[in-house]
Amino acid sequence: MASKSEAKKSHVVLVPLPIQGHVNPFLKLAKLLHHKGFHITFVNTESNHNKLLESRGPNSLNGLPYFRFETIPDNLRPNNNEDVTQNIVPLLCKSASRNTSFVPFCSLLSKLNDHSDSNASPVTCIISEGSMSFAFEASEYFGLPYLFFSVHNACGFMSFMQCRNLMERGVIPLKDASYLTNGYLDTIIDWIPGMKNIHLRDLPSFYRTTDPNDKMLDFFLDEFERVSKASAIILLTFDALEPELLDALPSVFPKLYTIAPLQLLLDHTVEKDLDSIGSNLWKEEAECLQWLNSKDPNSVIYVSFGSVIVMTPQQLVELAWGLANSKVNFLWVIRPDLVVGETVVLPPEFLLETKDTGLIVDWCPQEQVLNHPAVGGFLTHCGWNSIIESISSGVPLICSPFSSDQPINRRYVCSEWGFGIEMDSNNINRDEVEGLVRDLIDGQKGKKLRDNVIEWKRKAEAATCSNGSSYLNLERLANEVPLLK
Ligand code: UDP
Repeated sequence: MASKSEAKKSHVVLVPLPIQGHVNPFLKLAKLLHHKGFHITFVNTESNHNKLLESRGPNSLNGLPYFRFETIPDNLRPNNNEDVTQNIVPLLCKSASRNTSFVPFCSLLSKLNDHSDSNASPVTCIISEGSMSFAFEASEYFGLPYLFFSVHNACGFMSFMQCRNLMERGVIPLKDASYLTNGYLDTIIDWIPGMKNIHLRDLPSFYRTTDPNDKMLDFFLDEFERVSKASAIILLTFDALEPELLDALPSVFPKLYTIAPLQLLLDHTVEKDLDSIGSNLWKEEAECLQWLNSKDPNSVIYVSFGSVIVMTPQQLVELAWGLANSKVNFLWVIRPDLVVGETVVLPPEFLLETKDTGLIVDWCPQEQVLNHPAVGGFLTHCGWNSIIESISSGVPLICSPFSSDQPINRRYVCSEWGFGIEMDSNNINRDEVEGLVRDLIDGQKGKKLRDNVIEWKRKAEAATCSNGSSYLNLERLANEVPLLK
């Protein structure tokens, strides 16, 4: 039986988009809110729930007192390795559509509100994101506050919110396909509040369409409406990182909480029981940490393209020879579904040549890898989690964005924050890879970038320790959730 004070816990239901880069920050936020005394229900889609059980073991989702996992159905295929890079969000939105998810989610909310379960307190608020539109609709149906958790930084979030403005100004959709190559993408966009020196090519890849009825444009128009109606917005950033944007955003979205890096906030909590609850959808090959132990400090480049990106066999092979020719140690994550439509095949000569310098894994404990002293650089697709994890670990980057918010993240990392060098993902070339990897790990340029990222790491630590901006915003959020309307 719950004690009187426990029975009064506020109950937050979190519903992430079912991809790794969203599930991870949602789970971290859930842990932080649990630590603040909230009753948590974390909702996975069935396919993700099954993947988590497979990768982490049958007891991994048992939860803790006041921290439970629930599922809703979805239509996702478990081994999806087609090229969904450009349409992952519509695919997921479709799978999590009103028809498949709204009714089961409403049934779940009704079940959670059922007082016959003595440990349950009624749901206080839903935390979700735009792609899970049914969660927003359910919040309206039940009259519950809806907190929009954007797992992006302020520049990514602001860029996604510009779809209508770009359309009204006639910037997008592009007039025809020649606009992709005729220099039009270099158009300077100088009217977005808080953003300077931005080109059209830096904005989300979804805007590079010639189709006025493009599903992604529709999605972002709807998303803006949902965000505007949210009770509040949480952004995965910290104040010192993007001050101009964070000054500009409240004029459009007044109720804003900037809370990051979440892992550094979690490191300060004492509730170690929660450590055992992980969110990796693939099985981690933790042996790579032993391999790193055998390498000198800052001598290894870590290479990963996150959980969604797919590449062509040719891109993979160019990258492989670039790494081999650099003679720098590398730890490379090659997900089984990394190469579009194919199983991954690397040249046998490459494997032979790099048997002492390279290690390839399907999936690794990335944050532990980045924190390992042997890792001196990260060749990344610029997913925001990967970047904020690099800041937390003080690791400089080679930035090779593919899609979504990755181009704007690259822009800020390389030009504003000064801890990355650019690499063109459209045209991956072994000589360029070789040169960039050497520069980052052994060159003067790499040293300067490392010094810069260590400066950002200090600022991130300051934001997350007592009285830092993210620490205080988390406190504010915890105090204000029960009062949200
Ligand atoms: N990740 C991991 N192991 C890997 C590769 C990635 O744990 O081998 C995690 C990484 O730490 C990050 C997430 O997967 O939290 C990827 O998110 P990101 O935003 O960087 O990219 P996305 O997958 O959304 O494109």
